[in-house]
Amino acid sequence: MNNRNDVEIVLVGNELLMGERSDSHLHYLGRELLRNGVGVARSHTVSDAVDDIADVVGDRRSKARVVIVTGGLGPTPDDVTREGVAKALGVGLEFDEPSWDAIRRFFDERGRTATDVNRRQAMFPAGSEVLPNPLGTAPGFAVDSGGATVIVLPGPPVEVHHMFEAEVIPRIRAIFQREPVRVETFRTIGVGESNLRELFGKRLDGITNYRVSYLPSRFSVDIVLTERVGSSDRKGLDEEAARLERDLRDEFGNYFYERGERSLFHVVHDLLVSRRETLAVAESLTGGWISKRFTDVSGSSAYLLGDVVAYADETKVQLLGVQRDTLEQFGAVSEETCTEMAHGIRHRLGASYGLATTGIAGPTGGTAKKPVGLTYIGVSWDGGCLVKRQVYLGTRDDVRLRASHGVVWMLFDRLKSA
Ligand code: ATP
Repeated sequence: MNNRNDVEIVLVGNELLMGERSDSHLHYLGRELLRNGVGVARSHTVSDAVDDIADVVGDRRSKARVVIVTGGLGPTPDDVTREGVAKALGVGLEFDEPSWDAIRRFFDERGRTATDVNRRQAMFPAGSEVLPNPLGTAPGFAVDSGGATVIVLPGPPVEVHHMFEAEVIPRIRAIFQREPVRVETFRTIGVGESNLRELFGKRLDGITNYRVSYLPSRFSVDIVLTERVGSSDRKGLDEEAARLERDLRDEFGNYFYERGERSLFHVVHDLLVSRRETLAVAESLTGGWISKRFTDVSGSSAYLLGDVVAYADETKVQLLGVQRDTLEQFGAVSEETCTEMAHGIRHRLGASYGLATTGIAGPTGGTAKKPVGLTYIGVSWDGGCLVKRQVYLGTRDDVRLRASHGVVWMLFDRLKSA
């Protein structure tokens, strides 16, 4: 149906078709467009071939209102998106002197020199408006044709995100003139999708102003409410989301950890910063994952004192103060060792809290008594220590990811209860 209300996405890249790279643009563009009141009707993935690009863009520009194309604007001969789009529109490529100046400046500022191959990046289909790209060498372009606006962006995600915000969103708003769609995210951990449905499905079915979806990941389930298009009752939306927040808290307590978009690590980060408390970490099977995730959030030096990746038994003894006897009697993967790791790191670094993980990530190393996935996670504080035994399922990475989130959730629970 040609209702000219749609946005379609064309992702260009052999690497996407060959499975060498997972697409991340649709995830980003779909979400951001929706926030601006516009849904993505279709997405197409095509190879780096002029005819493939021309076929899809040529077809979709006569049906969709906006076609966003990403990738293939680089300087090398396999980057042929500009040629493909020009062919789709039935126009030639034209050289744009100001863009060539900007490309040369981009290289100059980095002590490099633009070569003749880069000149291609200053070529645009006739009638295009150039979209500047301050983060890379390839400018994008927008061109109206056949009733559609075709917007072409380079491939690197960081460039797509920047240009989308700076260049595409204002155009989308002007074309569609939609109100942003409200999206409310409620994050749970340790509940499980089927459990959530069973315990809470009826409650969610009663929601009227929003469309409800469950988004499970390897360690958590998000409940996402997306405002129904056309619902203009702001007060009703606010009240419905606030009621759900209250009910989730009543039903799931601290297993419901966030209304919003922050990760569990970010939530704990904010709690530690506001409480002016500190954290020390001792990791075995998680191999540094926990401090990586905390340091992903800027400002983590306010509380994160350090992390010891104590993979070998001897390191657990030397750097964390785990007793040799404990290791001999109970083994490295045990409640006793985990307790000593959590206490040990907290004392040695003088932190308010110590976290520890020790387990068998697999796929090798499991025994009948200690199977793959067996993990102990612990949190130590002044006056106590809690250690949990878990058997995580899945691949090596699943086990490590779940252990990282499991122990950080324990800290979250402690912070909320203390
Ligand atoms: P460059 O000037 O860097 O060559 P380009 O516009 O030619 O940019 P591509 O070469 O297609 O873009 O892609 C650049 C990088 O962005 C590559 O690493 C590519 O794998 C990545 N990329 C392209 N499209 C996507 C996508 N849909 N999802 C995730 N990454 C992508």
